[in-house]
Amino acid sequence: MTEADLADLGVHRIPVPIPFPQAGGPVNVYLVEEAGGGFLMWDAGLGTHEAQAALEDGFRRLGRRFDEVRRIYVSHGHVDHAGAARFVQQRHGGELPVHGHPADAAKYAASGSTWREHEPVYSAFLAKLGVPPEGVERSRKEGDRYIISGRVAEARPLADGDVVRTRHLELRVLHAPGHTPGLVCLHAAAHRLLFSADHLLEKVSPNPLIELGPNGEEGWFRPLVAYLASLERVRVLELDLVLPGHGSPFSDHRAVIDRLVAFYGKRQERIRALLDAGPRTPWEIARELFPKAGPAETFLVISETLANLEVMEDRGAVRRSVVDGTIRFG
Ligand SMILES: [Zn+2]
Ligand SMILES: [Zn+2]
Repeated sequence: MTEADLADLGVHRIPVPIPFPQAGGPVNVYLVEEAGGGFLMWDAGLGTHEAQAALEDGFRRLGRRFDEVRRIYVSHGHVDHAGAARFVQQRHGGELPVHGHPADAAKYAASGSTWREHEPVYSAFLAKLGVPPEGVERSRKEGDRYIISGRVAEARPLADGDVVRTRHLELRVLHAPGHTPGLVCLHAAAHRLLFSADHLLEKVSPNPLIELGPNGEEGWFRPLVAYLASLERVRVLELDLVLPGHGSPFSDHRAVIDRLVAFYGKRQERIRALLDAGPRTPWEIARELFPKAGPAETFLVISETLANLEVMEDRGAVRRSVVDGTIRFG
């Protein structure tokens, strides 16, 4: 199936550039034709001026206007997907509802708390994982780059199994926690299509990021444990084409899933071998796994390391201890 075939199904893709090289390329905004005219917008893109200009260009290229958008669906709360929702509402000018899973809505709806309010508990948690003070400070500064400045007034809740009808497609909401707690995909079973967002990307593994609870609770969400379970839900789907959150549409989703599972399996074997020399903090393990990572990547590498340790802990392959406020695995 080509992009021209997709256009026949009323699906139009607008790639929007983003400044995060690890994301896997420009973020995709999809316009899906509605039965009564106009569009459903699947993800809004990043809220920077450059990204907004790219989105406006995309609309122009398709010969469409912002006031033709009837509803926005947000796949998950990351800034590159939800960051421009407010901008689109403003360009639209009228009532434009935003729908998203409640577990992520706090990241982009006005009712949610901000990253700055949460930052102290994240910093304390990183210290507990063995990250030195300069790494904690750097990751605090990096976090500021991911702030969504214009939040939407409210997000209407989506739930697993909800059905969304557009002009040509019947889409079912598939809650696939992992990359974030509230990530959703849209599945068009009759057309064997999946809008996968960042749950399934062809060339990069979605970063499992540390996610503390609403009140800073540890262990509230284990991203990779959840992610691997969500992958199995997608593996069984019969699909011809995956429309991802970044990069071009691709097929053979099972091969992509097999590669990802093997990739994490190898990483966990490596961690097990490191721990045979004795217990270590997650940060000490992260330094071994990612010796070339720069200070700006502190949060990514510690998140990835902890996420793998949680999977291993879940299987009984490692044990956690906490001594004097520092977490070690052995
Ligand atoms: Zn994301
Ligand atoms: Zn993304």
